[in-house]
Amino acid sequence: MAELILACDFGGTKLSAAVVEADALVDPQATWRGHLRRFSPSGASAQTDIETMLVMARELLGSERPSHIGISFGGPVDYKAGVVRLSHHVPGWQNVPIRQLFTDAFLSPVEVDNDANVAALGEWHFGAGRGVADLLYVTVSTGVGGGWILGGRPYRGATGMAGEIGHTVVDPSGPLCLCGKRGCVERLASGPYMAQDVAEARGLPLAQVSGKLVAEWAEAGEETAVAILERGAKSLGIGLGNAANLLNPSRTVLGGGVTKSGERWWQLVCQTAKETALPEVQFDIVPAQLGDDAPLWGAVALALL
Ligand SMILES: [Zn+2]
Repeated sequence: MAELILACDFGGTKLSAAVVEADALVDPQATWRGHLRRFSPSGASAQTDIETMLVMARELLGSERPSHIGISFGGPVDYKAGVVRLSHHVPGWQNVPIRQLFTDAFLSPVEVDNDANVAALGEWHFGAGRGVADLLYVTVSTGVGGGWILGGRPYRGATGMAGEIGHTVVDPSGPLCLCGKRGCVERLASGPYMAQDVAEARGLPLAQVSGKLVAEWAEAGEETAVAILERGAKSLGIGLGNAANLLNPSRTVLGGGVTKSGERWWQLVCQTAKETALPEVQFDIVPAQLGDDAPLWGAVALALL
């Protein structure tokens, strides 16, 4: 029987599971043997999310047992202990021993980490980061998160918090962020915050504006949207340039919905990052390749490391 790897992604609002045959991974174009996605309902809790994930996994595996399991979680994770610290989206995730729960359910080795670290691993093994020993992965979406590969190994820091580029401060007198500080990269460059700033500046209800709309309006030349989107791109670029000065990655991979904001956004991010970093600190900035499946492919890489 083929050796199977089970990948699980607790993404906040959606849950995904997939199975791949270990032998298929030698092919760079490897595809899933099976893949399922369900939305987490509005009344969801940690318990219902875990039950849904276990049902999807059993549906994919049938009577077979996975040789390895990798789990990506959209929130802070104690990697060493295999415990989810909490979720900002779904109640009941405080200190959930997810590695133990899945080990008990499938009698297989389990690894779990937060989605940014896992997506960094995915892009490094299977996507835009292949062949690079020192990599920064940054997702710019509802929030801004990051993960490092340094010297050919994932780097998590003393308490697993490395890569939090979203809450590095690029404008100390800037607007207030949910973390309590001012002018964080996430406060200026994430989709929901850009939407909030455009809504406030134009006197629109927040429900009528999204990060995607800000990008569309900017493309059409609407002045407020152009200003907010450009400020976001520059803020992200400063964050990336500062990160490059500190750790000198050879490549930075950008993923997440906001990276679909058009050529002007990309150009501003890259230009500002290069202007912020020292001239000797050279690095590429490239788009992620794995799309929505980055955490799942990363979970496969995590399981096998
Ligand atoms: Zn912040």
